[in-house]
Amino acid sequence: MSTAIVWFRHDLRLADNPLLDFPASPEQLLCVFVLDTRWLEPALPGLAARRIGPARLQFLWQSLIELRGELLKRGSDLLVRIDDPVTVVTDLAERHRASRIRVRHDAGCDENEAVATLAARLEGRCEVVRTEGGMLFDEASLPNGLADLPPSFSAFRRRLAPACRIPSATPAPVTLPPWPPGAPRGLPPLKRVCTTAAAWQPDPRGAFLFAGGEAAGSARLDHYLWKSRAVGRYRQTRNGLMGPDFSTRLSPWLAHGCLSARQVHDAILTWEAEYGANESTGGVIVELLWREYFHWVACQAGGTLHGRRDLPAGGDRFRAWCRGDTGVPFVDAGMCELVTTGWLSNRARQNVASFLAHDLGIDWRLGAAWFEHCLVDYDVASNWGNWGYLAGAGRDCRPHRFSVLEQAEYYDGRGEYVACWQPALGALPPNVARHQPWRVAPERFPMPLVQPVAWLPRNAPTEPKE
Ligand SMILES: Cc1cc2nc3c(=O)[nH]c(=O)nc-3n(C[C@H](O)[C@H](O)[C@H](O)COP(=O)(O)OP(=O)(O)OC[C@H]3O[C@@H](n4cnc5c(N)ncnc54)[C@H](O)[C@@H]3O)c2cc1C
Repeated sequence: MSTAIVWFRHDLRLADNPLLDFPASPEQLLCVFVLDTRWLEPALPGLAARRIGPARLQFLWQSLIELRGELLKRGSDLLVRIDDPVTVVTDLAERHRASRIRVRHDAGCDENEAVATLAARLEGRCEVVRTEGGMLFDEASLPNGLADLPPSFSAFRRRLAPACRIPSATPAPVTLPPWPPGAPRGLPPLKRVCTTAAAWQPDPRGAFLFAGGEAAGSARLDHYLWKSRAVGRYRQTRNGLMGPDFSTRLSPWLAHGCLSARQVHDAILTWEAEYGANESTGGVIVELLWREYFHWVACQAGGTLHGRRDLPAGGDRFRAWCRGDTGVPFVDAGMCELVTTGWLSNRARQNVASFLAHDLGIDWRLGAAWFEHCLVDYDVASNWGNWGYLAGAGRDCRPHRFSVLEQAEYYDGRGEYVACWQPALGALPPNVARHQPWRVAPERFPMPLVQPVAWLPRNAPTEPKE
């Protein structure tokens, strides 16, 4: 009797999932997800916050519940454990005499180390098959492969565009092999894992509810493309700060693998066939290419991506940034939105990150670790890649500094975003007044920070360009 194990990690879907695309179908199949107990440990020295915060943990659980339902419909099931993943999967393989384990090759170094350890432990007894999936491209289709990844995103895109065709997504399997008799199954209720995550509710000012799972991801895609047709305006709205539809908000479903990038790409091509391609539809595809770029950069960087293991302890200024209490309204508004909703627009992410690294002069890895805790869409490659890129620790090594006051004035001209997340400032007149740093003490910001009254005319703000 041949038994296979499918080890789900950041790929919680049935459609377009190579994990379930067996070259020769096994006679029995056991599907497992293991919440690594290290994710429940403190994200940062001296802070109680866990690596996986409540917003993401809740989204993850919703996604797992739905995944289980879809597996059950096809004659299979799901086992969820909270433990050391390698120990659990080794144990299952031994007990059920599995001949094969299928797992996606992820970008994170913890994930890769785990697969390497598993393969070493089971060597000669059970084959560990690494699949790809979730991205637009496979490694083999990258021109010149991973070893010769271009140094910048522009070069990556230039090289990729003419050379590679993006394959279409594949459908979900109709049936799956039966569950091994006697094998454990099911998942614990979230309130037993983390009461805070079970009770988590995003601040309604975020105007959006992210619900985990493949169906909710498809529904969001459907809304953004077909119901609201907001995709046709993406180019004009993508730098927005408030409201549900200024950008796709697909990131949590992509990060957890409830949707694949190819599914999004296919849907955009179908939309273009109906309404015509424009710079907005192309703009979303460019963002997917950014995701792709950071994924391959992370695969290449391996353990050097973030150096989490020697993270310094954050001091008072770092804690003030986390709390949204720096005294710079635009930054504080962003940090408040991040903590209370688990999500932040790309524009706000860039500003709060640049402010931490370049104005406060704090080790960018602390900021990235705080994002890891807070974000519902945390993705190892996109998070640490974007942080490294802004801080100047990325592949091209140029720091990308944003002038937060210029940015605030340009992108939040009437101070509505600040007034929403810092209501005390809403009483001030709009425009500049609401953005004035109000408690900036020189000893607090040792870097040449903000020049409080040096406002520039309302042109596009100076912004780091590639
Ligand atoms: C400091 C910092 C940290 C970030 N951390 C993460 C993270 O942990 N997870 C994450 O998914 N994104 C991260 N991003 C990228 C980006 O901010 C989010 O993907 C985007 O804001 C999500 O909103 P959206 O889905 O509406 O994006 P859209 O603008 O609609 O873009 C469509 C999709 O393209 C991808 N994408 C867009 N911009 C980027 C980018 N700069 N890098 C990589 N992929 C991108 C996302 O998957 C996104 O869902 C980070 C950016 C910064 C500056």
